[in-house]
Amino acid sequence: MLGPVLLAAARSDSIRRAVSAAPVTRPVVDRFIAGERLDQAMAAVRSLTARGLEVTLDHLGEDVTDRTEALRARDAYLALAGALREAGLGARVEMSVKLSAFGQALPGGDDLAYANVLPVVEAAAEVGTTVTLDMEDHTTADSTLAVLARLRERFPATGAVLQSCLHRTEDDCRELAGEGSRVRLVKGAYREPAAVARQDKHEVDRAYVRCLRILMAGKGYPMVASHDPRMVAVAQELARRAGRKPDEYEFQMLYGIRTAEQERLAAAGHRMRVYVPYGTDWYGYFMRRLAERPANLAFFLRSLATR
Ligand code: FAD
Repeated sequence: MLGPVLLAAARSDSIRRAVSAAPVTRPVVDRFIAGERLDQAMAAVRSLTARGLEVTLDHLGEDVTDRTEALRARDAYLALAGALREAGLGARVEMSVKLSAFGQALPGGDDLAYANVLPVVEAAAEVGTTVTLDMEDHTTADSTLAVLARLRERFPATGAVLQSCLHRTEDDCRELAGEGSRVRLVKGAYREPAAVARQDKHEVDRAYVRCLRILMAGKGYPMVASHDPRMVAVAQELARRAGRKPDEYEFQMLYGIRTAEQERLAAAGHRMRVYVPYGTDWYGYFMRRLAERPANLAFFLRSLATR
């Protein structure tokens, strides 16, 4: 019941101001966010890669309301690409971007987001890595997939994210299961209406497995992004049946969630990538993590109560 309330709060500016200003918020936020600065993110990257994990870095930001902010998002990622080059980490670290941070919702949004993200994809290629386009709420899906298709004309390894909660996603999986395609499969983190999305968690899980079947049987590179032990086990079995070698798919989990399992999978020879968010605009991301798990909210509320 609380999940939808928290997801609605994730979009509220007044709640954003109150939560962001509360001093107690910080320790809870730090569990999920590597830091506000690039050097803190790079420190997290070094620590994770030293433990055999791969990384995808997300410079936090979404829903920009003017072109200058969109250019700032682009520049933050260009600085990140520079840091990866300097650290010689391009082979182990990719980048995740939200097109709403690049101007997708502004007038002429598809073209603007494409123009702003293209230099980032070029810079990633120069340091030997790739970019994956995060998927936001369902209203952005067509636009995000259209930008993806344009980027893939020059950079075919640009990754997509598909959400098993959406009714459309099995078709999208079929569409994107071809040679060279990289697809991160998630359950979906946004509050979506019944007209476009499954509302029952078990239905979302069952759809996740159907989507995994399509992606594992296809010719692309599946990125299995879930902390759910059942999904991890199913993915391993489907990969085995499809004759995929360990470097022909990967697991992904979020920074700070099921970290022992992340290390266990890496130690067992799987490619395990950790999604590492950093930056000052952490509110929306943080609220989605609270919404996913009541225990996170309880932890947050306890920290308020014990002050
Ligand atoms: P669940 O059934 O929700 O969780 C399974 C178990 O994992 C839980 O029982 C719990 O033990 C643990 N767990 C899950 N979430 C949490 C949490 N927040 N805190 C603590 N423990 C938790 N969603 C999008 O809509 N678009 C994206 O672009 C996107 N990118 C993602 C990238 C990565 C690498 C990952 C891992 C997730 C991403 N998500 C994205 C979020 C995703 O859609 C889910 O909301 C999230 O992963 C929770 O679903 P689950 O598959 O882990 O399964």
